[in-house]
Amino acid sequence: MIQFYCANVMQSVLDRGIQVHGTLGISDDMISATWFRLERSARIYDGAGEVHKSSIAKQILKNYR
Ligand SMILES: Cc1cc2nc3c(=O)[nH]c(=O)nc-3n(C[C@H](O)[C@H](O)[C@H](O)COP(=O)(O)OP(=O)(O)OC[C@H]3O[C@@H](n4cnc5c(N)ncnc54)[C@H](O)[C@@H]3O)c2cc1C
Repeated sequence: MIQFYCANVMQSVLDRGIQVHGTLGISDDMISATWFRLERSARIYDGAGEVHKSSIAKQILKNYR
């Protein structure tokens, strides 16, 4: 759960940070665009978020068979 929850929080925070700074935020004059690209990978590099969600859903639903 932490894997996809934190990855989405990081992405949301960075997205808002970029939006607040406008063009400056997405330019290479600030670190935010680089961070956004790096943190976007967090939804992929430990396994795709969808795979983690699916695995958790199976664990929860097996109790209701
Ligand atoms: C920056 C970075 C660093 C990495 N470092 C390492 C490392 O150190 N060691 C290592 O072993 N690997 C590493 N990887 C590889 C990483 O583990 C894989 O990229 C990851 O497991 C996803 O596999 P894939 O890229 O082949 O995507 P795929 O498996 O092809 O998936 C592509 C997309 O299909 C969808 N998808 C796939 N499976 C499902 C499913 N079951 N249900 C629903 N949707 C699905 C998702 O949207 C997913 O994003 C790294 C990747 C990145 C980007």
